[in-house]
Amino acid sequence: METGSSKEVVVATWEFGAACVDAAVHTLKQGGTALDAVESGAAVAEADPANRSVGFGGTPNRDGVVQVDAAIMWGPGRQAGSVAALEGILHPISVARRVMEVSPHVMLAGEGAARFALEQGFEEVDLLTEETRKQWEVWRETRAGEGENHDTIGVVALDSAGNLAASCSTSGAGYKFPGRVGDSPIIGSGLYVDNDVGAAAATGLGEDIMRYCACYEVVAQMARGHSPDEACSSLLRSVLEKDPKGADASISLVALNKEGAYGGSGMQKGFPYAVAAGAETRVLRGAGVV
Ligand code: ASP
Repeated sequence: METGSSKEVVVATWEFGAACVDAAVHTLKQGGTALDAVESGAAVAEADPANRSVGFGGTPNRDGVVQVDAAIMWGPGRQAGSVAALEGILHPISVARRVMEVSPHVMLAGEGAARFALEQGFEEVDLLTEETRKQWEVWRETRAGEGENHDTIGVVALDSAGNLAASCSTSGAGYKFPGRVGDSPIIGSGLYVDNDVGAAAATGLGEDIMRYCACYEVVAQMARGHSPDEACSSLLRSVLEKDPKGADASISLVALNKEGAYGGSGMQKGFPYAVAAGAETRVLRGAGVV
């Protein structure tokens, strides 16, 4: 755990999160809020065709269709929006924000989510690339790598006004059942924000994360006075103790508190996460609890 030297702090999951953090910091520098920052950060991973687990170029489901999950949460007013099993939209994180801002709902799924996106002016695109289509064709024959190839971009940010936000976006578990929904669009599982306390975002296997309401629990631990690192470790240790999968439960977390202190950890040592808390973006590695 470290304390950020400046008030504005952005933290994101994985090494590829570094580019997302840079975009989020740029948004803050332009006068954007933490909400704007977590949206622009997630959008970088969504648009990257080389990223096999988020948005365009993400691994498809069994039918060869890319179905994405995304959610956004804004501390003031504890607002949230999310989309699940959404098809054909380049920036699900922006649809999630629109659900939060203009619909009377928090979560839209499947066809209804797609219809809402189109009504809101989002364009329909094919998220399957030539490369992921070829990989899916191989998978159809071999069934190798089922359930593998998943990661989520999760971004948490604190802005100069002291407000917190979180986002997450993913194409979910590779070659999943059509309609499978992971933790990412579920408020409290894939992400959570309490503007008086802190924010958290998760990555790993949704089927593990959502059974523990992982991000709600991390924020609750911070509310009890634990540092972001301690809060992540506490959740992971409790999973390690209680879950039949033990150390094989796939859960990694990033967390940020109201004071700008941050942390991150996975079950195993070495979970990479990107941080900007001052001049430059760095990739750090979690200590793990095993
Ligand atoms: N949590 C995501 C899901 O299960 C994938 C990941 O973060 O690895 O959909």
